[in-house]
Amino acid sequence: MDKKKILILPGDGVGPEAINEVKKIIDFFNKKKILDIEIEEELVGGACIDAFKLPIKDETIEKARKSDAVLLGAVGGPKWDNLPFDQRPEQGLLRLRSDLQLFANLRPAISFDPLVHASSLKSEIIKGLDILIVRELTGGVYFGEPRGIIDLGNGKRKGLNTQVYTTDEIIRVARVAFELAKKRKKILVSVEKSNVMESGKLWREEVEKLGKKEYPEVDLKHMYADNCAMQLIRNPKQFDIILTDNLFGDLLSDAAAMLTGSLGMLPSASLGEINNGNYLSGLYEPVHGSAPDIAGKNIANPIATILSFSMMLFYSFNNKKISQIIDNSVKKVLDGGFRTEDIMDEKSKKVGTKDMGDLIIKEMKKNF
Ligand code: NAD
Repeated sequence: MDKKKILILPGDGVGPEAINEVKKIIDFFNKKKILDIEIEEELVGGACIDAFKLPIKDETIEKARKSDAVLLGAVGGPKWDNLPFDQRPEQGLLRLRSDLQLFANLRPAISFDPLVHASSLKSEIIKGLDILIVRELTGGVYFGEPRGIIDLGNGKRKGLNTQVYTTDEIIRVARVAFELAKKRKKILVSVEKSNVMESGKLWREEVEKLGKKEYPEVDLKHMYADNCAMQLIRNPKQFDIILTDNLFGDLLSDAAAMLTGSLGMLPSASLGEINNGNYLSGLYEPVHGSAPDIAGKNIANPIATILSFSMMLFYSFNNKKISQIIDNSVKKVLDGGFRTEDIMDEKSKKVGTKDMGDLIIKEMKKNF
């Protein structure tokens, strides 16, 4: 693989602990000359507030722009909970997403066989599940104007948000989903509420048009968001990729992720504009937060962060082989009965954060 420069932002709580395990993996591949990755590291979130009184520095945003990809641990914690909204640790993350124009959020929901019992659904419904939700991340009702709380007088008020999408916003995220569908099973379900919302009607029409014109090989279906929520619980394996807007994606990706069990296992990616099949910018991070309740105790599960790095190799660096080796090594360690506390059951062997990282590296080594 060509030389790549990545920016690492460990953040707060369990973020730095989990990131350490990824650094060990990068070190292994660099030393073996299998990858050539240069790392830069910066503060974000609460750690940055403590050092510089702001959740992310302008220089860090610049470094992120110049990097081939960004890996983030997690941000936040009770220490910073009382700060005004615009100065809180999460603002660092929001600024990264908006400044880098990361409009496509990818959330896989993959069931690992040894953990199939961790799901609240029956094993036969979950076993072998491998779906991907592509959520539009920078538009829709969370950003639409006008918005606000308006005083109507007489002690009455009106809360207002606007769901709005343009053709361009729909097409650029739909294109990401179609491109991914081409690399997977060539089936795509686009989700909206075109029965009751004009923005949903436009969404359906634009996705349909793009599919017909540029991706005829992808089998495109449309589904209403409420039906999709039901189908995810009833028969999730009918899906491969779900494309949806910011609001529905927020809800459906959490529901899909939880089909598989633990927060400590879930990676994510947020991607920017596509350029010749490659994504210009990508931010990779676990779905979980900074877990302050378990931080600093060497008990956090590092797998979500390790799988986020694997997604980086797959999506930003087009290195499917090493990405697969990492994913398979995680599976083998789980097959071997090793678990961190969050995914522990009575038959398994409990290991800490560092041991879990070491076990995964030991499995990886068997491939070389
Ligand atoms: P959380 O995801 O940090 O934790 C929820 C529960 O899951 C906790 O019991 C925690 O111990 C457990 N957990 C989370 N990650 C784990 C891991 N890797 N291994 C084992 N157990 C794990 O969510 P929360 O408690 O609601 O939020 C804590 C802080 O994180 C808050 O400040 C919140 O704002 C922030 N947060 C940040 C992000 C992010 O950085 N992307 C996302 C969500 C929450």
